[in-house]
Amino acid sequence: MLTFLRWLFAPRYRFLKLLLTACALLLFLWLTLQALDLLRDLRDPRSQSFAQWLQGDRTEREKLVTVRRDLCPGATFILPADGFIGLLYGDPRGPYSQNSPHQGIDIFSNADPGVVPVYAAFDGYVTREADWKSSLIMRVPDDPLQPGNQVWLYYTHMADEEGNDFIEDAFPAGTQEQFVEQGTLLGYTGNYNGNSLRDVWVHLHFSVVQDDGNGRYLNELDFNNTLDPSPYLGMAVNYACNTGTDGCSADPTC
Ligand SMILES: [Zn+2]
Repeated sequence: MLTFLRWLFAPRYRFLKLLLTACALLLFLWLTLQALDLLRDLRDPRSQSFAQWLQGDRTEREKLVTVRRDLCPGATFILPADGFIGLLYGDPRGPYSQNSPHQGIDIFSNADPGVVPVYAAFDGYVTREADWKSSLIMRVPDDPLQPGNQVWLYYTHMADEEGNDFIEDAFPAGTQEQFVEQGTLLGYTGNYNGNSLRDVWVHLHFSVVQDDGNGRYLNELDFNNTLDPSPYLGMAVNYACNTGTDGCSADPTC
């Protein structure tokens, strides 16, 4: 150790040596944190069902699927698609992290892209921005849980890998403020993930996004702009409370 320090602080190339040592230390720290994250993920019982989903055949997967087309007792939103609720609200597991947790829920489909229907979780006004290939956002003027507040419901990944959409023809790109009732068919689940090469599997990402106070939605990709969908759905879909049971919950929040 002493020899190393002597070498490190010797005048010759001192700056370069210090810089490289600092980089190596940072890399070591980063790798350690990644390894700890991975270890935590692997020990989480919910990751075992995730592994079961990724490796299992259709019959194995079916056991993990939640089918819930009507309202859970006391709930106001319907689950917008059937499937395995594999990534929860506030989920820190990959590709998310403690600092940047999941902003909604991911409902994975036990089917090919374009097969599993996506329904409006509540009454609202649909907008599809002109450049949105796989997404819709729905304005709910009166939040059923916080009357007087406006919230937004965001649905995405409704296109295939190439970006061919599975959104109903009633909602072409550029749609603004089209009213739909709860349960209206919006489209079908897909696996579109922009230009990213990461395979996202066929799923619906659903999130409750806050309003900016001026009638616009806040950035739906920022966790701090979103709300826990659990009390709306009557299901414990918050990572902090979920214990691995799916379906309706008498006490969905924690
Ligand atoms: Zn998601």
